[in-house]
Order: sequence, then structure tokens, then C-alpha cells
Amino acid sequence: MRKLVAGNWKMNGTGTSLAELEALKNSLAQSACDILVCPPATLIARAHWAIKGAFPLGGQDCSSKTSGAFTGDISAAMLKDAGAASVILGHSERRQYHGETDAQVAEKAKAAWAAGLTTIICVGESDGERQANKQNSICHGQITGSVPKGATAANTAIAYEPVWAIGTGKTPTNDEIVQMHAHLRSCLTESLGEGAKGMRILYGGSVNPSNAEQILNLAEVDGALVGGASLKAADFLKIIAAVRPH
Ligand code: PEP
Repeated sequence: MRKLVAGNWKMNGTGTSLAELEALKNSLAQSACDILVCPPATLIARAHWAIKGAFPLGGQDCSSKTSGAFTGDISAAMLKDAGAASVILGHSERRQYHGETDAQVAEKAKAAWAAGLTTIICVGESDGERQANKQNSICHGQITGSVPKGATAANTAIAYEPVWAIGTGKTPTNDEIVQMHAHLRSCLTESLGEGAKGMRILYGGSVNPSNAEQILNLAEVDGALVGGASLKAADFLKIIAAVRPH
């Protein structure tokens, strides 16, 4: 399976940031992996025109509703219309700051698929949960609750993002990543059966140009979800280049 390197710009970027996407487009040689960039929703349409389909774009969240009186929300069809092909769902910052539950994430995933978007569904334990050695049960619960039946390799990727590794410069050891990815693979098989076959499991949390090669080339890691280091084309390109062809 080709690995996927996805960038999550979070709430960063205005029109001037489109230059980073143009730089990315101009420097993307024959990369050994698939690429996705998820800028803020306000930039998707302009980014879509600027990069002329050089790589896919995604949103960072969507509503579970199709339309109506939901001030400030953005539907999956709106993201699609703006030029998105995918959407990140259940990011820990959505769960933490907006109180998103597993059930809501699952409803959003169904809405995204119905609109023709693929989804990246995020799971991951907090620092306290890892200290208490509860990471496996926490992630099992998140997979069971957030990933609806009907998820397949074609419409969904999972991102394992330990909350304590996001934006902190800390990363799990290679062994910890391998163990968790194997655990998530078995949770997906238990929950989805055949549907789980070939589904990408990305790692996310402080991936940067210095640690990308070591993390991205682990056999159990099918790609990365990159926050801070995706904002500058030069850094993101180094991460993309770290994926070895196989
Ligand atoms: C993220 O928020 O998805 C993320 C992985 O952030 P960072 O790479 O900055 O830790």
C-alpha cells in the first residue's frame, strides 16, 4: 500500500499561505507516497484553484448535518464543493475543545462519505491514560465508537495521535508505535471484518523532518498526519521525501 503523508494546518493560514502550497506543488517530484493538505476551510477553494489538482485537499472537520440552521458549521457537501476530497474527523482538539464524542464523530463520518469525501478518523490516548497503561482500551473504545460500519480502505484512514505527542516535540518510541498500530489493526478487524483490510493507519504527533524517516518507514505505519511541520513547504517536503519507495 502507498503511504499517505497528510498535513493538518489547524487554525493557521490566510491568503499569503497559499504560496506554501504553490511551492509544494512546484517541488513535488515523483514522491513515493500520496499527499493530502488540510488547510483551514476558508482557504480550500482558493487552494484548489492555486494548485490545479497537483494533490488533494481536505477539511479539518464537518457537520453531521446536510444543511439548515447550524450557524458557523460547514457541511461535508460544502467542503466537497470547495474542492476538498477528504476530511479529518475526531481530532483530539475537536474532542477536547468542542466536546466531540465518539458517536458524533461516527455521524460526521457517515455524512462525509455520503457527500463523497474520504475520512481520516483520529484516535489516541492522553498522557494520563498512557501513564495508567490504559492506551489500548481507550483506543479500542474510540475505534469501536467513532468508526462506523461501512468504513473501508477506500473511504477511511485512521490516524493514531497520542494526545501527549501533539505539538509537544515528544513522540512514542518505535516499539510503542508498532505495538499500538498492531493493536489498532486488530481492533479494526474485530469491528469491521473484511472492511478493515488494507485500511491505512497513520501516525500523528510531532512528526518533523528529523524523525520522519525513522517513523514513516516502520512497516506498521501507513503514513503520517503532520501538524506544525506541514505549514512550511520546505519542512513538509522533507517529510514526504523521507518515505522510502518499496
Ligand atoms: C496534529 O495536530 O494532527 C498533529 C499531529 O500536530 P503536530 O504534528 O504539530 O504534533
